[in-house]
Amino acid sequence: EVVVDGVHKSFGVVEVLKGITMSVERGEVTALIGRSGSGKSTLLRCMNGLESIQKGAITIAGHAVTADKAKLRRLRTDVGIVFQSYNLFPHLSVADNITLAPRIVKKMGRGEARTVAEEVLALVGLSDKFGAYPDQLSGGQQQRVAIARSLAMRPKVMLFDEVTSALDPELTGEVLAVMERLARDGMTMLLVTHEMGFARRVASTTVFMHRGRIHESGPSRDLFDAPRTPEMAQFIRSDI
Ligand code: ATP
Ligand code: MG
Repeated sequence: EVVVDGVHKSFGVVEVLKGITMSVERGEVTALIGRSGSGKSTLLRCMNGLESIQKGAITIAGHAVTADKAKLRRLRTDVGIVFQSYNLFPHLSVADNITLAPRIVKKMGRGEARTVAEEVLALVGLSDKFGAYPDQLSGGQQQRVAIARSLAMRPKVMLFDEVTSALDPELTGEVLAVMERLARDGMTMLLVTHEMGFARRVASTTVFMHRGRIHESGPSRDLFDAPRTPEMAQFIRSDI
């Protein structure tokens, strides 16, 4: 479902992705880990065309990532991305936040959009917040609404970039639980995370990035239990 082939990305003269090759099979969960600045967010942003690449190719949910605006729009209807900051529209209710894109991009009618909103809110355990406004919700609840908003587009692939790292520890669990449920339901997911226990348990594969390269990757359990490189070993020691 996701194929990244020899991707190079530079900002000016600084090369931050130095030949990334990886893939995520349909229905699989892959965790992307690594130190700050190793290129994790950049790779995710390249995957849905938020950043252009200089070399290599990316295919995601059946779409080639290109510079073509119309093609990118189609790609983005199939690829959900959720960031650390939830970016809900503060002046819109939870329901309107969720139905905005389906109504505009997918031209969904009011009734159908409402049904979808109810469904995705139930999925993230927030059915009772349909009419609430973002500032009436906790950080964890807002992040779950942000995930629901992405799901309302019925994506084939979900990308998550440190969606829990801005949250207090007691709110992290409820967001991780939502992601775990999505994983169980068979969503194809690539997630950047600092939650090592979660990565080990939920992701079948873990990819460790180091200085713009994939330093180590494989079945999560093997990687966490017996890292092959000193960098990975040091990273998981310092990050737990
Ligand atoms: P973190 O764990 O802190 O989120 P990361 O692995 O996500 O780190 P990236 O955000 O991908 O790292 O950044 C990789 C490198 O690219 C860093 O050196 C960063 O400074 C640089 N970089 C990222 N975005 C830009 C940009 N828009 N312009 C210039 N340099 C950038
Ligand atoms: Mg990042």
